Amino acid sequence: MLIVMRQDASREQIDAVIRAIEEKGCSARPIPGGERVSIGVLYNTGPIDPAVFQGMQGVKEAIPVTRPYKLVSREVKPHDSVIRVGNASIGKDRLVIIGGPCAVESESQAMNTAERVKKAGADIFRGGAFKPRTSPYAFQGMGEAGLRILARVRETFDLPVVTEVLDLEHFDMVEKYADIVQIGTRNMQNFSLLRRAGEAKKPILLKRGMSATVEEWLMAAEYILSEGNSEIILCERGLRTFVRHSRNTLDFSAIPVVRKESHLPVIVDPSHAAGLRDQVLPLSRAAAAVGAHGLMVEVHSAPDSALCDGGQSLYPDQFEVLCNQTRAIQEISRQNDKITRG
Ligand code: PEP
Ligand code: MN
Repeated sequence: MLIVMRQDASREQIDAVIRAIEEKGCSARPIPGGERVSIGVLYNTGPIDPAVFQGMQGVKEAIPVTRPYKLVSREVKPHDSVIRVGNASIGKDRLVIIGGPCAVESESQAMNTAERVKKAGADIFRGGAFKPRTSPYAFQGMGEAGLRILARVRETFDLPVVTEVLDLEHFDMVEKYADIVQIGTRNMQNFSLLRRAGEAKKPILLKRGMSATVEEWLMAAEYILSEGNSEIILCERGLRTFVRHSRNTLDFSAIPVVRKESHLPVIVDPSHAAGLRDQVLPLSRAAAAVGAHGLMVEVHSAPDSALCDGGQSLYPDQFEVLCNQTRAIQEISRQNDKITRG
């Protein structure tokens, strides 16, 4: 249930509605809007009669929320959420592009790559310091030394950084260094990690589980929001299917569905979907056309000697082409959107 207060509702009237919600054993979550306050009703175990609230002073309307997710849903917040990180606004008209290596491997590798992605037009730098690797014998990331390198990238190039947290144990550390904390596909339903992300003071980039439905993905975001962190960027990164021509299958149809269902921004990672360098540019162009708010792309200054995911990492020159082409496509689809919306 969402209770929309009148524009002229007083503090006392808002407090009275909150008390009435709590007396029903539910939790009240005020959602400030531009002009009026709305109050979300959480943790109800069954349906609540809207008439109870409709009769209260200061209440404009009480709207039942039909979806299992509430705070992430457009029913609760009709307008797009915009997440501001550095100079980038994720969720607005301009395509936000994140570029960088799969993993931070050394200071020179990170710095060389950052210089190139910045010049090409990236808004944010990516690089893993803690890597979720299939093999325990593969390179696991540099840990805190990698995070310190990311901090130097930010200072040197004025680029915000996004990096993955793998477990609760390292959350505080990653949160301290990162501008955006990434939760990877393998952790999308790690509920204690999601709850901790909900207490974080930094935006969270939440990747879709490799076999998760859109509903499960939005419910994972709901965990984060329900703990108080509303700064969430969703990221589609491909699903595990039977095909062998790519590492995963990029689910483009999820983008318009998520945009319809949720106010949260949604971006696409074509690199982990493709697994192969030559598919990354066409997938990125399609992502821009289908309405993604941004892209996260693996780029390496020397992909042939990368310690992780070199085969899907772009050469910096290719990344520059990608930035130019996808921004041009996004501009056309945005203008087209305006025409079709009238
Ligand atoms: C990554 O972005 O570094 C990564 C490991 O991606 P995913 O969780 O999508 O596999
Ligand atoms: Mn990778």
